[in-house]
Amino acid sequence: MTNAYKALKGRTILLLLEEWRCHAPPPPYYTFPLSLTPHPFMGLGKFIAGRIHQMRAQKSYLTAHPSWSEVNKPKYCPRCGEEEETFSYVILCCQSTSYYRECLLQGLSDVGPDSPLCTSKDLLLALAAFIRATATNYPPDMFPSLPPSPASMVFPSSPTSHPLGLFSSSPTQAI
Ligand SMILES: [Zn+2]
Repeated sequence: MTNAYKALKGRTILLLLEEWRCHAPPPPYYTFPLSLTPHPFMGLGKFIAGRIHQMRAQKSYLTAHPSWSEVNKPKYCPRCGEEEETFSYVILCCQSTSYYRECLLQGLSDVGPDSPLCTSKDLLLALAAFIRATATNYPPDMFPSLPPSPASMVFPSSPTSHPLGLFSSSPTQAI
């Protein structure tokens, strides 16, 4: 690849992102940067990637992300009732899932645009295990009894489980 081609490609990407920002900007509450490259969480299984995508976009089953038909529904966390059930609250704060957080997410303190989730495969795997263990952002009537899986099945660091088993396909492929 020549330097001229690389420069042209870089300039094209910048122009595409600028067009995107001008003509189809994301809503003000969406603070993640625009990118033409899929986020690494898209390398997780489709279901778990879907949970994360919905929560980042604030179009999820969390009560702080109501649909147009449910704008007047309570926004407090249905598990603890303490605060609004936002993406960062369910992942980082809710006391009802503190056991799984302490086991799985000790290295995670941010899920926003500056989160290390963009660069750490281990943290992404841990987040996937946490979401599975706590059924976070699962459709409400899908798993009425929580948690749905024994801990031995969801801990990526467990000697009996294989961390890459969390990926639905191509386990040797980098994310
Ligand atoms: Zn809660």
